[in-house]
Amino acid sequence: MNENITKRNTLLAQKVMKGLQSRNMSAYYAEDREEARKMALSLIPEGSTVTMGGGMSVHEIGLVEALKDGAYNFIDRDTAEDRQEAMLQAYRADVFLSSTNAITEDGVLVNIDGNANRVSAIAQGPKKVIFIVGMNKVCSDVDGAMKRARNVAAPINAQRFGLSTPCAKTGSCMNCKSPDTICCQFLITRYSMHKDRIHVILVNDTLGF
Ligand code: SF4
Repeated sequence: MNENITKRNTLLAQKVMKGLQSRNMSAYYAEDREEARKMALSLIPEGSTVTMGGGMSVHEIGLVEALKDGAYNFIDRDTAEDRQEAMLQAYRADVFLSSTNAITEDGVLVNIDGNANRVSAIAQGPKKVIFIVGMNKVCSDVDGAMKRARNVAAPINAQRFGLSTPCAKTGSCMNCKSPDTICCQFLITRYSMHKDRIHVILVNDTLGF
């Protein structure tokens, strides 16, 4: 990572972490992907049941491979015989892993979902939720975070899954009601009622989209 970008990320991360802590969430800053993976693993006791709802960032730091290779009960919905049951198991899991579509400088997390399995598990169910968040996801405020979610994350996800949405064709949100829309549910996480449930690891890198 470029030295000047690192300097900016380190300063900005202090602000984001302060915001997260004021919202009853735990916050960490990793200098690189390897440190982020080690931090995440330090929050997951061996023997834990772990699952996730998508999240390129989680894959990109090598966390999924580490969990599969380690002494954890990792539920992989992508290879599960019963995908629906695997998604339901997330609500009873010890740990749920996720990236976020955007985060504000003062620590509000913004996520959109089509199927809603991800946003519903973030909101309620698993005992612990760990977010892996590249500094490219930081936006100035909730309005900026919503715009990022709808104009950056959603079009790329729509293209990735081969969906027939206007944003997949134009690259930006057209506020559609397409049957393929992935913008069915919006979750704004502004406070965690339960201390030590939500942990956010900010990473000095570009992760996900
Ligand atoms: S509302 Fe429709 S066009 Fe806008 S980002 Fe979502 S899926 Fe794409």
